[in-house]
Amino acid sequence: MPLSPALFPQIIDSIADAIASHAEAITELDQAIGDGDHVFNLQRGIQALQDGGAEIAVLDWPAAWQKIGMILMSSVGGASGSLYATLFISLSKNSHDKPLDLRNFACALALAVDAVKLRGKADAGEKTMLDVLIPVANALTEAAETDATLTEIVDRLCRVAEAGVEATRNMLATKGRASFLGERSIGHIDAGAKTAQLMIAAIAGVLKQAG
Ligand code: ADP
Ligand code: MG
Repeated sequence: MPLSPALFPQIIDSIADAIASHAEAITELDQAIGDGDHVFNLQRGIQALQDGGAEIAVLDWPAAWQKIGMILMSSVGGASGSLYATLFISLSKNSHDKPLDLRNFACALALAVDAVKLRGKADAGEKTMLDVLIPVANALTEAAETDATLTEIVDRLCRVAEAGVEATRNMLATKGRASFLGERSIGHIDAGAKTAQLMIAAIAGVLKQAG
């Protein structure tokens, strides 16, 4: 089982590196249209997940996702903390009692992204992390119906995530702190969309090596 939660410590370390190496640029983005704490919020969650990594590594995926969600809920402040906690707790709920093949995972992820939409009362096009998460979940649902290889699928998801980040630049923010700026939010990439993309790229890198 190459894609088991035994990979989790490696995944979370890779995410930590990706966020750390882009910390300055992301903070600049979040200072432009948010309150500048997004990297700090995420890094607190990442550190807590690194601390819990060994414990998570021995669980099955549904239990691992539940644990990840609970850790994020209790360690991260800010909107992004409760949204990511919602994502993982929902992913867990929707993946119990069925084999975790690609199609079932894609379905659970789509439902988890729906839960994030509900939690944040937001949708695509509002200049948030959802502008990465929604197209990535959609692309995975499509890919699960093809006979594409793991490498082809993760490469496709990475490209979709990058396009999602870039699309936030010209959007008017209507949710989160950036919405307070109205028209002045236009012209800046959303920090939460950027970190979602970086985390997806980091996960993809580990999965490609392992698969
Ligand atoms: P806060 O906005 O509370 O300071 P963070 O700075 O950690 O929280 O996270 C900000 C990011 O969270 C934004 O860049 C955006 O991508 C995302 N975000 C904010 N509000 C929402 C929402 N209602 N739905 C989805 N994502 C949101
Ligand atoms: Mg913030």
